[in-house]
Amino acid sequence: MPDSKPSTNLSRFMLAAIERLQQKDPELYTILDNEYQRQANVLTMVASSSIADPSSLICEAMPAMNVTAEGYPGNRFHAGCRHIDEIEQLAIDRTKEVFGAKFVNVQPMTATSANEVVMFSTLKPGDVLLGMGLDAGGHLTHGSKASISGQVFEAYGYGLDKDERLDYDEAHRLTLKHKPKLLICGTTAYARKIDWSKFRAMADEVGAFVLADITHIAGLVAAGLHPSPIDHAHFTTTCTHKQLYGGRGGLVMMGRDFDTPTADGKTTLSGLIQKKVFPFFQGAPNQASIAAKARGMAFVGSDEFKAVAQRIVDLADALAKAFVAKGYRVITGGSDNHIVVVDVFKKGITGVNAEKALEDCGIVVNKNRIPFDVNPATVTSGIRLGTNGLAIREMEPSDMVECVDVIHDILENLEQTGDREYNIPAEVKQRAEASIATICARRPITTYPPVQ
Ligand SMILES: *Cc1c(COP(=O)(O)O)cnc(C)c1O
Repeated sequence: MPDSKPSTNLSRFMLAAIERLQQKDPELYTILDNEYQRQANVLTMVASSSIADPSSLICEAMPAMNVTAEGYPGNRFHAGCRHIDEIEQLAIDRTKEVFGAKFVNVQPMTATSANEVVMFSTLKPGDVLLGMGLDAGGHLTHGSKASISGQVFEAYGYGLDKDERLDYDEAHRLTLKHKPKLLICGTTAYARKIDWSKFRAMADEVGAFVLADITHIAGLVAAGLHPSPIDHAHFTTTCTHKQLYGGRGGLVMMGRDFDTPTADGKTTLSGLIQKKVFPFFQGAPNQASIAAKARGMAFVGSDEFKAVAQRIVDLADALAKAFVAKGYRVITGGSDNHIVVVDVFKKGITGVNAEKALEDCGIVVNKNRIPFDVNPATVTSGIRLGTNGLAIREMEPSDMVECVDVIHDILENLEQTGDREYNIPAEVKQRAEASIATICARRPITTYPPVQ
């Protein structure tokens, strides 16, 4: 605990700061204010985002950001880091506690850079990695040619079986065939549980490292609603802004393998990670974001969050069932986590048109490719929805029926004139907007003051 009592100096600073912004730069203030109001007034059903807890969000704006502090707590290249060290140590300790990790690096600026840190710690350029294919629901950073992961390394991808479930047999076959040095698991558009132990077993057969990227499901893992990879994988990465409701950034975590010596015996696996974050990839970390992570971890460790996480899962289950009841094909038939992927092309609508039309009416979702998609990534046959943003509005499963009724009304009445062109009749749009305004007013974001 810090050795002084809280004062009002910081809160007075924050109030003065927002007043100064409002006076000196009304143009930017207005845009930021509009964005705040947009978030309050639309239904954000985006699987890859959440509504950060305000107590974490405000940490992003703290004067702690002013300090340049290369290095790690107790071992900085700069002076003036006493409180900076306290902030970072708190973030590390809380993250270890929440995830049962033995080692944590809280400095990565994004999950993308956390993944790069692990790749460059375990692979040399040209080495082989195996991840889940992008089309199957993997992430760009798991070996796609569009990312550094697919250009610097020789990347292969496993996919889904005929039931649209993760194909562990294919992953095993490709592991034996290509002998990757790094096996990556974790997804962005997969609604089912992942068996981490299977990946570790296949990796052990060829002496590969395992990276579990839990970016999408980190909150469920923290709450015990999805099995944890911490001791199965050598490395676990996540961002802190999708399902941890916290500040923006990434984490690298390790469980039982943290002190495994490297092949040359010079350091340990966690020692490698420390050096790859700084100085290899990054300079001084953003200490305000690290404070936001520390606060986010305390929130995620609370009973309040356990209830939020349970709601996330219950809402996704209800959402999937409501789509099925309306005659939609839901990929894998349902959801075990926060994600629901719906095949809209089967109803004659492209994913991009569905996304745009829903946004026109105040519902935000993402177009998404579906397994074995016949449409390109810019068009797609599906939409991906998520319930992180709805759980923080304390919605009930019965609200999901109402949301799907509105979505169905829009999609059913949409006139598609091209892959990327459509019309929505004015009365349909008005009806949908009115319904969404009613839902948002009835289920406001519980952690924010009401918008006037
Ligand atoms: C979103 C996502 C990332 C990238 O996260 P950023 O913090 O935006 O870089 C990495 N992995 C997975 C699985 C993701 O879903």
